[in-house]
Amino acid sequence: MPPLQTILKQRIRSDVLSMQAYTVQDATGMVKLDAMENPYTLPEALQQKLGQRLGQLALNRYPDGRTHDLRRALADYANMPVDHDIMLGNGSDELISLLSLACAQPADADGKRPVVLAPVPGFVMYSVSALLQGLDFVGVPLTPDFALDVAAMEKAIAQHQPAIVYLAYPNNPTATLWDESGMASVINAAAQTGSIVVIDEAYQPFASRSYIDHIRNQPEQHSHVLLMRTLSKFGLAGVRLGYMMGPSALIAEIDKVRPPYNISVLNCECALFALEHAEVFAQQATAIRTERTHLIAALRTLPGITVWNSDANMVLIRLDQAQAVFEKLKAKSILIKNVSKMHILLDNCLRLTVGTAEENKQLLAALQEIL
Ligand SMILES: *Cc1c(COP(=O)(O)O)cnc(C)c1O
Repeated sequence: MPPLQTILKQRIRSDVLSMQAYTVQDATGMVKLDAMENPYTLPEALQQKLGQRLGQLALNRYPDGRTHDLRRALADYANMPVDHDIMLGNGSDELISLLSLACAQPADADGKRPVVLAPVPGFVMYSVSALLQGLDFVGVPLTPDFALDVAAMEKAIAQHQPAIVYLAYPNNPTATLWDESGMASVINAAAQTGSIVVIDEAYQPFASRSYIDHIRNQPEQHSHVLLMRTLSKFGLAGVRLGYMMGPSALIAEIDKVRPPYNISVLNCECALFALEHAEVFAQQATAIRTERTHLIAALRTLPGITVWNSDANMVLIRLDQAQAVFEKLKAKSILIKNVSKMHILLDNCLRLTVGTAEENKQLLAALQEIL
């Protein structure tokens, strides 16, 4: 029998062998402001109630029709447009993977593979899932002030004829919402090339607008558009529940590549429970938006720092020596995300998740000392 190293080299894809695994930073004992999590937990009384509900589930059975109840509840919650359908994913991450899988046609006679296109810097899973499923990824740089470069997007779409165009609305890690007329231009350009557009509204609870109203009001212009959301930033990052709405015929095809039991009975029941108590999460989102306003104002009083506006539960800043500042914050038990190496436009940028009032105070005090 050949040694394991030989088997790995022979049998595992070479691009996988040279890949870095996704690492989750260890956050034990830290003020955790690195992953856009909602800092609030469930109130004690709801914890008890949820525990009882989960304890009664038939864990011995495969998930049943309960996911249909959840699909209906989410469609009501989002006020889904007519003639649309909704599918569920184990987080939006799974939906992004399934989209790539559904579009992963073989290369054409010229060796050209289907393309996933998105503005960069943006959410890394768009490119990661595309490359893993054998699609190419084309990133179109934002302008230096992190606006959508509409002309460059239109040009790239015409040139690459992408299978999928992602528009994170608001974007991660810049926390920006694209200008509405720019969105319309890009969506129209994608219609010309027969591309699917995915509007990713992961940060919808904190955003000043959603694109869903345009989809509802002008269905003909949006027959190639999917709207993706998640309960992660809403307050259930640990539950893993993403959802995607779109024209029924389009959703029906993508849903075919979904593993049949991708939503566990626990995920499903937790999500239903949360929607029954949506007002609790709405209050938390309001508190986070208020905290965001305070945090941005306070950050702007610090020396040598650029602070961008935010429509999400994160704030992007630029300062000198971002890596050193990141390390010094870590030494003070404050964990944020250093995004400065992600893209040249993010040079010396750090991404801060908006925490509780107390956590933000600690972050500000630490930054003040460091700067
Ligand atoms: C956090 C995030 C998601 C959410 O992913 P989940 O798998 O649902 O946790 C999706 N899109 C963007 C842009 C994000 O930042």
